[in-house]
Amino acid sequence: MKRTHSDNPQRNHNNHRWLLAALTLFWLVGCNHRVQDRSSSPSVRPELLEKFEKIRSLGLHQEKAHEFLRLVTSVGGRLTGSSQADRAVELTARLMTELGFDRVWTEPVKVGHWVRGEKELATIRSSKLGTQSLEICALGHSLGTAVEGLEAGLVEVRSFEELASLKDKISGRIVFFNVPMNRTVLEPFAAYGQAASFRVHGASEAARYGARAVLIRSMTFRLDHNPHTGLMEYDERQPRIPAAAISTAGAELLHSWLQVDPELKVWLRMNCRQEEPVTSANVIGQLTGSEFPEEIILVGGHLDSWDLSPGAHDDAAGCAVAIEVLRLIKETGLKPKRTIRAVLFMDEEFGGTGGRAYAASDNRNGEKHLVAIEQDRGGAAPLGLAFSLENLLDRLKPLLYYLEPMGINWLRTGGGGVDIAPLQSKGTILGGLIPESQRYFDYHHGALDGPETVHPRELELQAVILAIVIYFLAEEGV
Ligand SMILES: [Zn+2]
Repeated sequence: MKRTHSDNPQRNHNNHRWLLAALTLFWLVGCNHRVQDRSSSPSVRPELLEKFEKIRSLGLHQEKAHEFLRLVTSVGGRLTGSSQADRAVELTARLMTELGFDRVWTEPVKVGHWVRGEKELATIRSSKLGTQSLEICALGHSLGTAVEGLEAGLVEVRSFEELASLKDKISGRIVFFNVPMNRTVLEPFAAYGQAASFRVHGASEAARYGARAVLIRSMTFRLDHNPHTGLMEYDERQPRIPAAAISTAGAELLHSWLQVDPELKVWLRMNCRQEEPVTSANVIGQLTGSEFPEEIILVGGHLDSWDLSPGAHDDAAGCAVAIEVLRLIKETGLKPKRTIRAVLFMDEEFGGTGGRAYAASDNRNGEKHLVAIEQDRGGAAPLGLAFSLENLLDRLKPLLYYLEPMGINWLRTGGGGVDIAPLQSKGTILGGLIPESQRYFDYHHGALDGPETVHPRELELQAVILAIVIYFLAEEGV
């Protein structure tokens, strides 16, 4: 085996000393720069570096984040309002208590309760080609079909413009939105954002012209047999019709059959329904600040998930990272000046009621959230950090040198999330760690999002980096 310099402990030790020296130099250069430019921020104090080292070695040695992820996923899919979601509230509140955080509590959230019911069925029926089953799943909020199902001919479209141009042919039919995620868009979340409008608004747009149901091509780059669910919304001005996702392989098959037999029919049966709202909870734990307890750096994820898998990347990963950030700081023996708070939000997937309830709670009176970080882009290896305020990026620049070996390549404006968005109007800076995401939509909202798809070391790196960034902010302020 070829021995590289990183295998040599002596060299590593030397590297470490060199790193400290270089960082000190960087700090001095930063100070010098500050004299020239009053708007720039102070650099990292050298004594902080030792603490960063402790956090890093503890995290990499113990890899607890994945253990926490497995605890969250152990209850299965955590659909908002479900008993699994309730169980996840109990387990994570108990975990944070056992970890010895200074305060652990829950805050109630009134949430909707949509139920999938018995597994959906779909079959193509063609007089020319025969019958073929299709993999579908109901979209969140959708109503079901009648018990005997629904059968109709299809109209396939690739845009809302095409739908409008075919409006006279739609009445009584199922509209099939066969719009793949744009593979030429490098950033998967951007491609997802473009395609998601068909999932969210497709049913009401089709119902406007008299459609009886919609089938939406799943949002993933992968060609497979897993339908991916997600939220849809009804426009109150249009009739409500059932909406289901179809797997990408199923969409390709249906498309090819339609070329041969445009008159084929599809039979669907969906058993989903909306039940009465229930009371659920956000789960909160904190390390209370030693000097400015009312000033808060928040790190969170969402505890609910979809129901087709245990929701590991989405978003047990974010919850696990938030808990691990606090644990790392506590176990390292650090006493941050400002409060560091982990919030596991309920009900991100059905519209973010947990995030809104958190921001609006009377418990926020007298609190000032300086920075809120939400991790909801999966548990893969870190790529960069994004924050909503340019000045904060300047403050973090000196850390980049230290974080680069752990995978942080850049600092950019951006970041945020559904659950922390309501804090922005109160002056909170939003942000997050951006992980690698080319495979994220293989798992997202589908059957494959299990704990084995999240690599323990990649997830731990997220927690270590955020613990360092958050501890720095809690010490230095913003
Ligand atoms: Zn999510």
